[in-house]
Amino acid sequence: MLDRVLQEIRSRRRFVVTSHARPDGDGIGSALACAQILRQLGKDAEVVMHDGVPRIYQNLPFADRVIRAETVPPNDAVLILECDSIKRTLLDGLESCFLISIDHHASGRNFAHVNWIDPTAMATAELVYCMARLAGVTVDADIATCLYTALMTDTGSFMFEGTNEHTFALARELVLAGADPARCARSIYFGHSTAKLRLLGTALTNLHRDGALAWIWVTQEQMTRVNAREEDCEGLVNYALSIGDVQVAIFFREAADGRWRVSLRSKGEVNVSSVAEHFGGGGHKCASGCSVEGPLATAVARVVERLHAEKAMGNAT
Ligand code: 5GP
Repeated sequence: MLDRVLQEIRSRRRFVVTSHARPDGDGIGSALACAQILRQLGKDAEVVMHDGVPRIYQNLPFADRVIRAETVPPNDAVLILECDSIKRTLLDGLESCFLISIDHHASGRNFAHVNWIDPTAMATAELVYCMARLAGVTVDADIATCLYTALMTDTGSFMFEGTNEHTFALARELVLAGADPARCARSIYFGHSTAKLRLLGTALTNLHRDGALAWIWVTQEQMTRVNAREEDCEGLVNYALSIGDVQVAIFFREAADGRWRVSLRSKGEVNVSSVAEHFGGGGHKCASGCSVEGPLATAVARVVERLHAEKAMGNAT
């Protein structure tokens, strides 16, 4: 499939690269690297994101070039990375574009004209790196920094289930190409806003337990009180997962429309992606997300009930 992707790229000139709304490190890092690879191939390429670049990723190379838009600009093709549908990009106008999807989610769908989905990859960054190599593009320090950050964040700092010798081999290649691991880690893990830390405090006071399950939540009102943005919620779920006897952690965030955004994390015993998929979301075995109707008590009850059902159904890994 990579051959087909390169063939489609070679026959076109103007590209838009995008990812899902509220992009995470793999979405942003892979998109920034991919656009630069296209530029090195002599193409016009811009990264266009509905939500722009979250604060902790703004120091990445080329991040200042990212175009924030509601509608996709004119192009010959759009590369959609780390995303399972047109809808999740929140960009208008994609229906009439030639679409190439590059993704590593097991829940990925064939929604584009060309779909390169490889769930064996730990991050979309791995696929973008393969693309650069096969295209004969030199992975310079800037591209390596974007891809290393993507790999580091999507593997939970090389801690998630599935991290193996290939992950470290790729990390090694990227460090040899010029990525500075300490600098990349500092930007992400020591680059938080005060609002995020205050929000963490609020979320932890809402900590609930049910056996090996833990969940936390924040409301719109609580976010407003500490001046937090949506992006400040990223990673809060991991604090609930960090409890010794917890197997699954859930983070509930009240959305502006009254629905609840749900982040699910597992230490590996329970497959949380099937729970997210049940509610129309997706992701990975150990990290997935979805949206559910409120109010909070109903949202919690439905997700918790589904998790218990999944375990009972024998989907525990
Ligand atoms: P997070 O909880 O950090 O938002 O997402 C965890 C993982 O689940 C990521 O890989 C993300 O792409 C995926 N994910 C989160 N929300 C959704 C969703 O609504 N739909 C799909 N398909 N995947 C999601």
